[in-house]
Order: sequence, then structure tokens, then C-alpha cells
Amino acid sequence: MDVPRVILVPCLRDNYAYLVVGAGELALVVDPSEAAPVREALLREGLSLAGILCTHHHWDHVGGVAELCDEHATLPVFAHAIDAVRIEGRVTPIADDEHHELAGLDVHALHVPGHTMGALAYRIGDALFTGDTLFAAGCGRLFEGDAATMHASFLRLGALDDATRVYCGHEYTEANLRFAAWAEPASQAIAEKLAWACAERALGRATLPSTLASERATNPFLRAANAAEFARLRTAKDSF
Ligand SMILES: [Zn+2]
Repeated sequence: MDVPRVILVPCLRDNYAYLVVGAGELALVVDPSEAAPVREALLREGLSLAGILCTHHHWDHVGGVAELCDEHATLPVFAHAIDAVRIEGRVTPIADDEHHELAGLDVHALHVPGHTMGALAYRIGDALFTGDTLFAAGCGRLFEGDAATMHASFLRLGALDDATRVYCGHEYTEANLRFAAWAEPASQAIAEKLAWACAERALGRATLPSTLASERATNPFLRAANAAEFARLRTAKDSF
């Protein structure tokens, strides 16, 4: 499996955009919530932008799309059809399970509704970009779908390989692990990852990517036995 180079681009308060490096110094950007930090990262790395992948339409994921499109006349922008119409700019709507070859990379879209009805995850080689669906040790809020819908999306992502690198939309890991430690107080894996995440954050470092193996051990939402347990966890997290 391809192991593309992925560059984290911190945006806004706790968002991440990601540059995925393809062939010939070309890069794709996932969820550019701001144009300026993405532009700076491209310049610093000597990369040219070859496409934009939107996981969903929320402003803190697509805020930089229109500006980047203005600068690159032919830049392709992808989002699921349901969310594409809610994003400013010329967005190509895509559907579940579509593959697109961009910058020499095979981009595989997975429809994972729950946070929004058009939420997508993107698989590029061993890297998985989950937006606000699957967070490290957590799960996005159910703005448009119900718990059963989100649980089905988690089952789908949870079926991918252990070694899959998970890149999510926000630096929420430490807070999510505090909830995970409350939900599973006997878990050594959660306690250890919480201590690690606290130390990393204290040093100002990102806690991402995670891996699916780590998520299977520490993410209560991925570990939920069924949709009812998933729903109970999501409700508890809302008021945690
Ligand atoms: Zn969102």
C-alpha cells in the first residue's frame, strides 16, 4: 500500500488542514479552513496545489476553498453531492466509493454520514482523512444524522487495516481521552494514551495521526458493541 507523505497544517484555533504529497511536487489539501496557512505550507515545502478534498461543508473546514480557487483557475474541488451544494466555489460532487486519480494519488471517497449527511472520509494509500466523523478517541457531533447512522459509518471505518493512519479535523485528542477514561476507567490503553497526549500537548505538539489499531484500543465509539451503546456514549459525551 502507498504511504503518502502528509503534512499537518494547523488552522484556526484547533483545526488541521492536511497536505498530501503526490507525484512531481504536487499536493492535495484536505479541509483548507483558511487559505493563508495552506499557502505558506505549500511555499515552505516547494509544492504546488493540485486539488482540494472537502470532508464536509462546515465553515471551519472549507473557509479557504474560494480563495484558493481564485488563485488556481483550474483547481478541482471535491465534496459529497449533499455537502457540495453548500460550499462556495465550483465543487465537483462525488459519491460513495468513487476513486479519483489526483497528483498521481488514488483518492478513494467513503460516504460516512452522521456529523453531516454528506460527510466523506478520504482514503489515500494508508492515510485516512476523517474530518469531523472519527476523531482520535472520539466522534463528531450528530448535527444531521442520528446515532445509528454514525454508528454505521464507524463500523465502515473500523473495518480498515490496523496500520491505517488516521488524520481527523481537530486537535481534540486530550479532551476525548478524558471522556474515554471516564467511559472505560479500567482501560490501561486509554490511561497511557491520555498521559502521552497531555505530554505532547504541553510541548505544543500535535497528537495526530492516530492509527486504527490505536483507535480500536482507545476510542469508546469505535469500541461500542452496538448502535444503542454508541448512542448512550454520544449522549454522555454531549454533557461531559
Ligand atoms: Zn464539522
